[in-house]
Amino acid sequence: MTVRLKPTDVVIVGLGAAGGVAALPLARAGLDVIGLEAGEWLTPADFAPDEIRNNYRGWPQSVQKANQEVPTHRRNASAPYSPRPTVAPMMNAVGGTSVHYWAQSWRLNPWDFKVVSETTRRYGAGRIPTGSTVEDWPLTLEELEPYYDKVEYEVGVSGKAGNIGGRIDPAGNIFEGPRAREYPMPALHGTEFTQMMADAAKGLGLHAFPGPAAINSVAREGRAGCMYHGWCDRGGCHVSAKSSTNVSTIPKALATKRLRVTTGANVISIDVGKDGRVAGVTYLKGGETYVQPAAAVILASYVYENVRLLLLSKSRQFPKGLANNHGQVGRHYMSHAQFDGVTALFPEDINNWYGLPAQGVGVDNWADDNFDHAGRDFIGGTNMYVYSNRRPIAAASMGTFGKTARNWGSDWKKFVSTNADRTNTAYLQKTTLPYDQNVLDLDPVVKDPLGQPVIRITADYQDNEKRIGAFAQDKMIEWFKAAGAIAMDKSPVGTMGPTTHAYGGARMGDNPETNVVDRWGFCHEVHNLAIVGGSVMGTSGSRNPTLTAQALAWRTAQHLAENWKSRTA
Ligand SMILES: Cc1cc2nc3c(=O)[nH]c(=O)nc-3n(C[C@H](O)[C@H](O)[C@H](O)COP(=O)(O)OP(=O)(O)OC[C@H]3O[C@@H](n4cnc5c(N)ncnc54)[C@H](O)[C@@H]3O)c2cc1C
Ligand code: SF4
Repeated sequence: MTVRLKPTDVVIVGLGAAGGVAALPLARAGLDVIGLEAGEWLTPADFAPDEIRNNYRGWPQSVQKANQEVPTHRRNASAPYSPRPTVAPMMNAVGGTSVHYWAQSWRLNPWDFKVVSETTRRYGAGRIPTGSTVEDWPLTLEELEPYYDKVEYEVGVSGKAGNIGGRIDPAGNIFEGPRAREYPMPALHGTEFTQMMADAAKGLGLHAFPGPAAINSVAREGRAGCMYHGWCDRGGCHVSAKSSTNVSTIPKALATKRLRVTTGANVISIDVGKDGRVAGVTYLKGGETYVQPAAAVILASYVYENVRLLLLSKSRQFPKGLANNHGQVGRHYMSHAQFDGVTALFPEDINNWYGLPAQGVGVDNWADDNFDHAGRDFIGGTNMYVYSNRRPIAAASMGTFGKTARNWGSDWKKFVSTNADRTNTAYLQKTTLPYDQNVLDLDPVVKDPLGQPVIRITADYQDNEKRIGAFAQDKMIEWFKAAGAIAMDKSPVGTMGPTTHAYGGARMGDNPETNVVDRWGFCHEVHNLAIVGGSVMGTSGSRNPTLTAQALAWRTAQHLAENWKSRTA
């Protein structure tokens, strides 16, 4: 039997990093919001300091919905399928993946918003890589800045500003775009190792600065400051120092009494009325089917599920899937989780047993267009980042830099016992562009337990991205060497399979022929349906996506509240 529920103002599908932020401005504006979340509430007691459980068995996401619909992947339309991961990286819970993410909380830099026009102006149109579908964003960093600011203060981000209103402060990132004010909290403190790396960067003429983190560096808004033990690198924080949305924006929205959260709600379609507008959603919960009518819907279920729900929601008006009459849903997909990092071996212990991935230093000299690309064979660049964090099992699985056999024999055991605390792997995030051939669609064969197709990723890194990767590794080797590393290993480039940093599939842009959503995040073809998350981002920048996705989500929600009549009439 299908239960038809009372209509509400807004339904948000997925209360994760982005949906959990969108709820707050809507609820504060006095709108009635229902958050439909496939997962459940987790509590600090769920967040055990247990490497096997968190990092290897993927608990609790391994027993959840995301694992039953892991996308398939092939490098191109005629390539065989890649091996399918058994554990999805993402989380089903109130707070979504912000519960167990690393909380590095970056803004994009100004260039990331205008790759086409700035590249053309500086180097000529011929420098846009062949086959790339990249467009300038329909908004600039300056337009997004007030929303970055809002989210940094409401979610709770610590860091050091490098550019307040054009005044450069070398204690922060001198390459960042202008911001209105300082972070709400000072940066997480550094370690001996990060200081050693910062000093080495200085010696090379590079500028190192503390990375921004959605983690309390001091007690704030009733939550503790960080204790730096690092068990949150794939787990939640048991003292709620991490600013996951389940402990930051969602409780604030609940306090308005305008947000109602329904957990265990698996949304299976977005429903369209006779007028071609969205009428609400259908979801499954506890064996029942519910229809929740709403004046507006915000889709916030992460890149793959956002695209899947759109493509599965077919109707007379949208026979190829919702908001897909221009064939843009699933296009402009990208991810920059290339894995071509660098691992260094140092001659002494570097005391990395304590610390967390958001406690690091970054270098942006080789990021974006911060350096002259005239003599290079690529555009874009890398944010080089090192941090202090080590777990026992991961340490025992270390590489041996060609010095002994790996994983067997007494030489190997001796090598590991001497060197377990002497290695560090840099996190090199790179600019990635969208290409014609990199797309998401519905898998024709593989289905979830409900019999619905999972997402199929057809995508791979192209020449521009591979060249940035090789350049980034060379620059990182110089940095590690300057810090005294005695051996280094480059890891090979991977491919664009299911990932935590997925972008596109419902890109934002003014042109409905090439974009799914408009500059406010609402579908060109369906004016009361918004999409939030990395889905709408047209470039990745060379840093993590979440703060940008959250700033865009706040902006979309605020736009809806301020234009309620025209969006829902
Ligand atoms: C280990 C790890 C480390 C990471 N570290 C960083 C980092 O340091 N910095 C950074 O910026 N990013 C990081 N990320 C990426 C970051 O987590 C994502 O960018 C972010 O969570 C995406 O936000 P989202 O709201 O789109 O998706 P999510 O946060 O995953 O939220 C989606 C929500 O939708 C719900 N949902 C899904 N399908 C349905 C459905 N059909 N019906 C109802 N609800 C549904 C899910 O249960 C979930 O709660 C990391 C990710 C992982 C896994
Ligand atoms: S290191 Fe900080 S954020 Fe991570 S679990 Fe510990 S207290 Fe929480």
